[in-house]
Amino acid sequence: MDAAALVPAARPAADAAPVPAGPGGRVPAFRPQLPCADRLLPYLQRIDAARIYSNRGPLVWELEIRLARAMGLPGHAVHAAASGMLALVLAILTHAGRGDPAGPRPLALVPGLTFVATAQAAELCGYRPVFVDVDPARWTVDPSALRTHPALARAGLVLAAAPYGVLPDMAGLERLQAATGVPVVVDAAAGFEALCDAPGSASATVPMVLSFHATKGFSTGEGGAVIWDCEDARLRLIRTGNFGFLGTREARGPGLNAKMSEYHAAVGLAMLDDLGPRRQAQARVAASYGQAAATAGLRGRLHLPPRISPAYALYEATDAAACDRAAAVLDAAFIDSRRWYGRGVDREPWYAPAQAAPGPFPDAPPDLSADLSAAAPKAPLPAAHDLCDRLLGLPTAPDLDAAGIARIIAALAAAEAGSDGGAGAAPRPPA
Ligand SMILES: *Cc1c(COP(=O)(O)O)cnc(C)c1O
Repeated sequence: MDAAALVPAARPAADAAPVPAGPGGRVPAFRPQLPCADRLLPYLQRIDAARIYSNRGPLVWELEIRLARAMGLPGHAVHAAASGMLALVLAILTHAGRGDPAGPRPLALVPGLTFVATAQAAELCGYRPVFVDVDPARWTVDPSALRTHPALARAGLVLAAAPYGVLPDMAGLERLQAATGVPVVVDAAAGFEALCDAPGSASATVPMVLSFHATKGFSTGEGGAVIWDCEDARLRLIRTGNFGFLGTREARGPGLNAKMSEYHAAVGLAMLDDLGPRRQAQARVAASYGQAAATAGLRGRLHLPPRISPAYALYEATDAAACDRAAAVLDAAFIDSRRWYGRGVDREPWYAPAQAAPGPFPDAPPDLSADLSAAAPKAPLPAAHDLCDRLLGLPTAPDLDAAGIARIIAALAAAEAGSDGGAGAAPRPPA
């Protein structure tokens, strides 16, 4: 994190910062703002006094309990981890076990509309990802469609996702798991605020995973958590995340080091101290975006919190070309934008090596498609690809002010006007 970001989180609105400017005066796609040094100090002094720095110390326990309270859950339902991806690996190993490439169920069903880490976590746990489409209106996998997916019979894991923090149909996923016996895990990386807004909604049977990366709405710098309202799972998560040790120094199961340090917990605790003002600031940014878009005739083109995570503000273009045009117009106005999920996980060169342009590394990725094709022929993912092509992440930050937002919306309006001579294309209804 750069030093310029170390300013108080609960800055009063009247004192709002100017447009957040990154290097070269550009507006960055996301400008994190974590707790400043003096908010951290009391927690750091507790670490100094206790001389406990790692191995699930007192600050990690306190963070778990306070996070659970924020989401209306019992304390056992939150298990902190060193990152979102490690929390995902931990949840998969604990709930589904390691994938066996030679066994009857070597596959993991993974949505195309998510961050690449979702598929990488399945792969790290020994599963071969098979990409599945999402519901075009909901953006998440449709559990009843998955029940008839041809690869389900060879799947040892279903990984659902919460794209942009939009939670999937958890009850439907619980039923899918109960009916098929295939373990389900949800990568709900940006879903913290959604879980806070629907208290008590964690599942007892389907673990969810959060990321506390600096680009998420709630952050410990790097960090994550497994959200699983199951007391029995708790000790298994602790064991798997600590080299398979529990009580003794004997490995009694699959293991890794997925533990959060006391220093990262300190950041999370300081962030929780100011959670109310932070969420108000995020709501102000969303309201400001909504007003500016309505004034510019772009209502219905933006997806904003609370429907999505406050880590994002999304523009939905009519088609891929209009989305590219909007990104180019923003870029020319020194405004960054981002397709957060690229063109779809299945189109990452690692997963689609045949279509990949030559890259900077001498090792080409192995051709994963050949031995997969028999088990799971690649299916088209029209909805996931359409959404990846048309959704553009606009800049956001907890202190992005109205003037900055006006600049961003003006550039978008210009892009739309340029695309159709100012007549205004018919907006799609919001999902
Ligand atoms: C942010 C994110 C991750 C990665 O989380 P880390 O904490 O950076 O490891 C994984 N999946 C999704 C969907 C994300 O948005």
